[in-house]
Amino acid sequence: MELGIAGRTAIVCAASKGLGRGCAMALAREGVNLVIAARGAEALEATATQLRGLTNAGITAIQADVTTEAGRAAVLAACPNPDILVTNAGGPPPGEFTQFSLDDWRAAVENNMITPIALIGAVVQGMMNRGFGRIINITSYSVRMPIGSLELSNGARAGLTGAVSALARRAAPYNVTINNLLPGPFDTDRIRSNWAKAAEVSGRSMEDVARDGVKSIPARRLGTPEEFGATAAFLCSQHAGFITAQNILLDGGAYPGTM
Ligand code: NAP
Repeated sequence: MELGIAGRTAIVCAASKGLGRGCAMALAREGVNLVIAARGAEALEATATQLRGLTNAGITAIQADVTTEAGRAAVLAACPNPDILVTNAGGPPPGEFTQFSLDDWRAAVENNMITPIALIGAVVQGMMNRGFGRIINITSYSVRMPIGSLELSNGARAGLTGAVSALARRAAPYNVTINNLLPGPFDTDRIRSNWAKAAEVSGRSMEDVARDGVKSIPARRLGTPEEFGATAAFLCSQHAGFITAQNILLDGGAYPGTM
C-alpha cells in the first residue's frame, strides 16, 4: 500500500534501537525525511547509516537526551516543523510502588509524561496551521493492564494518555491525529533487561523467566520492532486521518479482556 507520506518530515525520538528504530526504518522506507535522536553516538550513527541505505530522503542523527530541555531543543532545532512526531524514551526502572522515592516518581513522570508533552506542545499548533500532522506516543500495555513489577510505568504513561486525550479531539479538525501505541512484550534490549531484573528478584534463571514470559503471550512469541514500525507508519499515513485519540495495543493477544 502506498502510504502517501514520501517527502514528509518526521522526528523519531529514542530511535537508535528497539521500537523507535523500528518506526524510523518503516518511515524511511516510505521516503520520509527523518530526524532521529538517542544519547549514545555509536548505535545512533549505525542506525543512521542503515537508514541512509534504505532511502534517498534526508536522515539527520542528533545525539541528545530527549528527557532534557537542551536535548529537546537540539532535536527541534534540527526539525522545527515536523509533519510527524514519534515520542519515545527509555522506560522507567522496574520495581513496586513502595520501593520508590518521590524523586523516582518525579523522574518517571519527567521522562515518560512531561517529555512527550513538551515535544507535542512545541509542534502541534504548527501541524494544525499546516493542515497535516501525525503524532504517535510510544507508551506501554501497562496503560491498559497494570504491570506489578513496573509501577512507575503504570503511573507515568497513564498520565500521558490522559494529558493528550482532549488535545487529540481539538487537533482532529485540522487533519492532525494523536495516537498512543501500546507495546506488549517486544524483542528489544528493554525486555531483556526487565527479564534480567525479574530473574534477580525471584532467584530464577533468566531463561526460565523468558520462557514463562513468552508462554503467557497467546501468539507464543515476542513482537518484532519491524511489526511495531509498520503499524506506526500506517498510523502516520494519509489513510489514517480518521484514526485519532486511540490507544492501540500490539501485544500478541496478551491483554485478557474482550475489549
Ligand atoms: P530499547 O530497545 O532499550 O531502546 C531504547 C532506545 O531509546 C535506544 O535507542 C536508546 O538509546 C534510546 N533512549 C533511551 N533513553 C533515551 C533518552 N533519554 N533520550 C534519547 N534516547 C533515549 O527499548 P524499547 O524496547 O525500544 O522501548 C521503547 C519504549 O517502549 C520504552 O519506553 C519502553 O519502556 C517501552 N516499552 C517497551 C516494551 C518492550 O517489550 N520492548 C514493552 C512496553 C513498553 P540510548 O540509550 O543511546 O539513548
